[in-house]
Amino acid sequence: MMKHNWTVEDIEAIYDKPLMELIYEAATVHRQHNAYAEVQISSLISIKTGGCPEDCAYCPQAARYNTHVKAHKLMEVEEVVETAKKAKAGGSSRLCMGAAWREVRDNRDFDKVLEMVKQVNALDMEVCCTLGMLNYEQAQKLADAGLYAYNHNVDTSEDYYDEIITTRTYQDRLKTLENVRKANLTICSGGIIGLGESRKDRIGMLKVLSNLQPHPESVPINTLVRVPGTPLEDQPKVPVQDLVRMIATARILMPKTVVRLSAGRMEMSLSDQALCFMAGANSIFAGDQLLTTPNPDFQEDKQMFDILGLQPRKAFKDVEKPEPSKLS
Ligand code: SF4
Repeated sequence: MMKHNWTVEDIEAIYDKPLMELIYEAATVHRQHNAYAEVQISSLISIKTGGCPEDCAYCPQAARYNTHVKAHKLMEVEEVVETAKKAKAGGSSRLCMGAAWREVRDNRDFDKVLEMVKQVNALDMEVCCTLGMLNYEQAQKLADAGLYAYNHNVDTSEDYYDEIITTRTYQDRLKTLENVRKANLTICSGGIIGLGESRKDRIGMLKVLSNLQPHPESVPINTLVRVPGTPLEDQPKVPVQDLVRMIATARILMPKTVVRLSAGRMEMSLSDQALCFMAGANSIFAGDQLLTTPNPDFQEDKQMFDILGLQPRKAFKDVEKPEPSKLS
């Protein structure tokens, strides 16, 4: 039975355990509910980069910060499909397409994204999009095109949200997640640690995610990549034990969710990452670019999998592949 009424006290009791005990417990839950040696490899393409009107303090794509990111208009469908094929050849079973938009608009660009979804789904990959806020009709259109998952991170706790983003509210975030769920898409939603948030905020974020019913099928846990030019460039580096603690707690709260070790992997050693897999992480982003920040390449990850005895998880495990329906 999955639990959806976690209290702050319940979560604290898990989160505050001595680290070794926490990892052991999370590893046990992971073995009970999942094929623990399977790790999903996902690839991420930035289909529209930079120039975003939002003010997320961690993000190099916000137009208002002066960062290394150059704005690019929406990619062509063929280019995306070619990249998807390469990602699949590298072992990826999921492709996430990210556009630096505040929200989806019903225009030609959105029609192009629907076509990308349709064509990548035809490659037998799980297709995920992250396009900002959307309404129910737009979520339904994506579902009809064959989208498998929609990513929309809550980022942090509700209390800390205003410190990081002022151009939208936490409720806007949750509303989009509701629209996504109503359209029968799977949800990918997680957050970032290292934004200057407190222990209470980390617990608060896990509470929001683990009380969604059903749980998000995917929860990315990112560590801040401190990009020069963003307001958070001088934040201290997140100690790896904080990340492991978050992953292990997420694993115990949401036993069957795919917990994704996301941004920040570039700064982690093999043994750091092994600890995360032990604590229940069962997905990574692969490819040498993670939206606009560096990431380990496919070859390095293949070596890591060989050393640790991990296998890539297949697409659509235990679920039905979505069929594009209404688009012709
Ligand atoms: S995180 Fe997304 S919404 Fe926020 S500034 Fe970056 S691209 Fe825009």
